[in-house]
Amino acid sequence: MIFEDSNIVTKDGYDFKFTPSACSSCGGKCCTGESGYIWAKYHEIEKMANFLDLTIEEFATIYIRKVKHRYSLIEKQIDIGNYACIFFDNSLKQCTIYPVRPLQCRTFPFWEIYKNDKEEVKKECLGVID
Ligand code: SF4
Repeated sequence: MIFEDSNIVTKDGYDFKFTPSACSSCGGKCCTGESGYIWAKYHEIEKMANFLDLTIEEFATIYIRKVKHRYSLIEKQIDIGNYACIFFDNSLKQCTIYPVRPLQCRTFPFWEIYKNDKEEVKKECLGVID
């Protein structure tokens, strides 16, 4: 269960907390970095397409890559060895589809891989605190 007040978010089973206010000064560390995947399910693709006033086919052609049986948003290279999600505005340092971003984005930094690795998630997210 996630508990959220305006300043601090906690989740059962995680020994760290998250302060969303840090996002305004972070510059988008969770949307940029090494190349990776931003997984999206069909119903999320549908929502993003609607948000952008595109058909699902149009959206998928422009923004989606198929990886085996799954779908990921594509990335753009912003520097040597540095990539960003296609929907990250590198000038404004923010997500341009924030209200309809996929679950993977919504649940960060409370990812399973960070459950027992507070030091690692701290490197990835300025908003993580003890
Ligand atoms: S969809 Fe938005 S929040 Fe998710 S990685 Fe892309 S820019 Fe970041």
